[in-house]
Amino acid sequence: MKQSHLFTKTRHEVPKDEVAKNAQLLIRAGYINKEMSGVYSYLPLGLRVMNKVVNIIREEMNSIGGQEVHLAALQDRKLWEATGRWDDSVVDNWFKTKLKNGGDIGLGFTHEEPLTNLMKDHIRSFRDLPIAVYQFQTKFRNEERAKSGIMRAREFLMKDLYSFNVDEKSHQDFYEEAKKAYIRVFDRLGIGAQTYVTFAAGGSFSKYSHEFQTITDAGEDIIYVHKDKRLAVNRDVLNDEVLKDLRISRSDLEENKAVEVGNIFSLGAKFSDALGLNYKDAEGKLRPVIMGSYGIGPGRVMGTIAELWSDDKGLVWPESVSPFAIHLIALFDSEGKVKKVTDDLYEKLTKKSVEVLYDDREETAGTKFSDSDLIGISKRIVVSEKTLRENSVETKDRRTGKVEMVKSINDLLLE
Ligand code: ATP
Ligand code: MG
Repeated sequence: MKQSHLFTKTRHEVPKDEVAKNAQLLIRAGYINKEMSGVYSYLPLGLRVMNKVVNIIREEMNSIGGQEVHLAALQDRKLWEATGRWDDSVVDNWFKTKLKNGGDIGLGFTHEEPLTNLMKDHIRSFRDLPIAVYQFQTKFRNEERAKSGIMRAREFLMKDLYSFNVDEKSHQDFYEEAKKAYIRVFDRLGIGAQTYVTFAAGGSFSKYSHEFQTITDAGEDIIYVHKDKRLAVNRDVLNDEVLKDLRISRSDLEENKAVEVGNIFSLGAKFSDALGLNYKDAEGKLRPVIMGSYGIGPGRVMGTIAELWSDDKGLVWPESVSPFAIHLIALFDSEGKVKKVTDDLYEKLTKKSVEVLYDDREETAGTKFSDSDLIGISKRIVVSEKTLRENSVETKDRRTGKVEMVKSINDLLLE
């Protein structure tokens, strides 16, 4: 993509009410637009990052047998009444609205109810199980506080996977596979080192659930980290019992602020019982399907990466989610030599399917470099009169700042 065609511009000012670093940087660099408090739109650069995050999650969900769907966002009141979750005194973050011909509907904040109901048409016997279904979908939550930028939005993308098993044992096996897949996801997203499997409240069906908490001062949660064992305990459940269960002592734990980037939850038969999702076992006896739910917020992840991977100049994307692989910057000369060589390099890289943002604008070197630092593409290539004199181009790693002169364009392509 040529930067002269990219409609978004970098900017110095951010909305006055935007206090979160992630949103400030992403707005300044042209990744997102703030519509109102807690509501953000994703622009071309932002959508590219989001899609990369989504694809990494998708690959890992497919690797554990997940089948992708896309459920409706609008919710049928009846289903939620059946599980007792329609009432605002039970779930206080619903967005609801009235239909013209009478009746209420809700905007989905999660999808256990509709998916459990849908599965009644597809699960009959033990032969139909296990099943794992997931989606990437916009969720709506009337969050009370929206001060964390895209990390806590009122409208946000969620990957939610739901598992359906014959019994607790097979559910547990899948749960462990999902946990491993989550660890792979956060490693690939470049936040593995800061992310801890965290013991949290389990609801009524398992003693604990597991949150994936990433340490950052921008987080709203407090967790207690056991660095050696690479696990953590959420403040909400920190007591003698959990220390005993995990065979750890309080003095080995370090308090940290963190953000919940994902969580996995055993649901038992809560939803199957309420909505009548049963299967026939080998003896022909009806049994409830055992369920689990597994969430990740790709937008929250993107905000977390922006918090962790940024410096005073701007964003510093990990390669795996960088909107482009290369930011190609041409410092034009008056004779058009640099332009010719860079146009040619851009063509070649693009033909090789390398994702390149080509800064072909008539701007000063200073503007191009500071915009490039702000946008934060993981690798920069500079072509200038100076590099041409040496018959080479200059590459710079955004994270390490390491500069290298690459002699031939072929060397560059082979990397
Ligand atoms: P929190 O405790 O932070 O409010 P939650 O426990 O309600 O989150 P879930 O309902 O389990 O979260 O949602 C699954 C995932 O969706 C979370 O782990 C998080 O990554 C993401 N998520 C939840 N709420 C938001 C939000 N308001 N904005 C962006 N992402 C969110
Ligand atoms: Mg939570």
